Amino acid sequence: MATLRFHELGVDDRLLKAIADLGWAKPTLIQEKAIPLAMDGKDLLARARTGSGKTAAYLIPIIQNLLQSKMSVSEQAVRILILVPTKELGHQVQQMIRQLTTYCARDVRVADISGQADISAQRPILMEKPDIVVGTPSRALVHMKQQTLCLRDTLQALVIDEADLIFSFGFEEDLKNLLCQLPKIFQSFLMSATFNEDVQAIKELVLHNPVILKLEESQLPDSSQLTQYQIQCEEEDKFLLLYTLLKLSLVRGKTIIFVNNVERSYRLKLFLEQFSIPACVLNSELPVQSRCHIIGQFNQGFYDYIIATDEQSLSDPSEKKGKKPAGKRKGGRGEKGQDSEYGVSRGIDFHNVSTVLNFDFPQSVDSYIHRAGRTARANNPGVVLTFVAHTELPLLADIEEALGGGASQESVLHPYRFRMEEVEGFRYRCRDAMRSVTKQAIKEARLKEIKEELLNSEKLKTYFEDNPRDFNLLRHDKALHPAIVKPHLKNVPDYLIPPSLRSVVDPLLRKRKRRRMQPSSSKVPAKKQFKKTQNPLRTFKYTKGNKKAATKTGAGQS
Ligand code: AMP
Repeated sequence: MATLRFHELGVDDRLLKAIADLGWAKPTLIQEKAIPLAMDGKDLLARARTGSGKTAAYLIPIIQNLLQSKMSVSEQAVRILILVPTKELGHQVQQMIRQLTTYCARDVRVADISGQADISAQRPILMEKPDIVVGTPSRALVHMKQQTLCLRDTLQALVIDEADLIFSFGFEEDLKNLLCQLPKIFQSFLMSATFNEDVQAIKELVLHNPVILKLEESQLPDSSQLTQYQIQCEEEDKFLLLYTLLKLSLVRGKTIIFVNNVERSYRLKLFLEQFSIPACVLNSELPVQSRCHIIGQFNQGFYDYIIATDEQSLSDPSEKKGKKPAGKRKGGRGEKGQDSEYGVSRGIDFHNVSTVLNFDFPQSVDSYIHRAGRTARANNPGVVLTFVAHTELPLLADIEEALGGGASQESVLHPYRFRMEEVEGFRYRCRDAMRSVTKQAIKEARLKEIKEELLNSEKLKTYFEDNPRDFNLLRHDKALHPAIVKPHLKNVPDYLIPPSLRSVVDPLLRKRKRRRMQPSSSKVPAKKQFKKTQNPLRTFKYTKGNKKAATKTGAGQS
């Protein structure tokens, strides 16, 4: 736990005011350690887990140093370069800079060149020489080659955020080429969730005698903050269980549902659509403006459910070391229109997510950790529930081992005991819905969504800049309707609700009926409907040391 307050770290008053507006009472551990060292001009290599506040740990001292240096130099120039592996992260870093510089926005100008696809549109922005440039290595390099970004004489500091992902996203060559065009002396920061051989390689390339901050933290928050469950179920049962959890509001609050590919994301969206459960999809095919808008709206509480693809293949370590196809490596769109600079399971700050639901099992331990890190951020509680097919049990054991559980130890991922036989009554309607979601329906939905989102994206680029009040009217969770939706599936008949769940579900359904009669309340942000301290998996109780977990309602014993 940090013991100091921000003002005790010698932070500028304007920054302190912005920090107070953000509601941060005191620095996180990484901030307490990193800020004084960085303000002192030291190079830093920091390992801190996702959600630990590491973005501000480098941004606060960088902005502070910038404000100081601007007192003595008058010439406007790009002085800071922040490299990120994905466009979503670039957008987010820029937003945090804007928040932190609310009271010194004239002195600190920032440009995010990772997001916009159009290089020529970025030229005029760079011509104005913003103090801080945020971008992916490939995009920064393009501008350096075209001499729209020139850092040789002016660079003060370089940050490589999520450094462990930079190589795995195929940026190794770009990074090396880019480094050749930087001056000899500048301050460097390497921020990373893990210290692997890629980080070691980058460290040798950019850091000079760095201070290494390895916080004694586990990779995920401890069990008092993050509760992890797993349940064994095969394909059809996954759909049945998801339907039950969402329709009966057994999972509450904002939820990210992870799947492993784009096709699956639409399959799930259309399946839920059959029951009138709205959800947004988030995948690499969507234009970047739409992706960032969806994340922004989700953070503001517009949506309860996001179905996100964790597209491992785009960041497949086997494709690194420059082996990625050129179309992918250069930050363009891959063969199938997928964006290689997409990444939502990694580094992105989704706010107040109560549950991460791994509908598809993550393909690696790292992927599990990154996904789980989308909840229980800062000091908030969170739950991860992972569906495990029998073929994935060895992978589950790997995750347990990596997190320090399994074998002779107590499991880290507790069994989520749910009596599937009690929800057998729903199976027929789930099958019905699954049958309606044909390959053709998915194909149509995918095309329709991309078409709509391309239009939205254009609007996001232009119209909403002039009409910011309308910005939030654009929704991304509309039904796509390629399959016929049977109206009766929208409601859950009382006789189908398991008796053991009635006491939990009934009041909620009644509430929902009441709510439907009041149009204005449908806009109540999801986060307001969920109290921080409540466990979103509301029927579940796990008693430590007693492997027989029980639910309030009795639906959980097996
Ligand atoms: P990061 O690890 O940088 O992605 O940050 C995770 C979350 O922690 C973000 O939502 C930040 O806004 C939040 N955060 C950062 N610093 C603090 C702080 N000192 N106190 C409370 N929340 C913070």
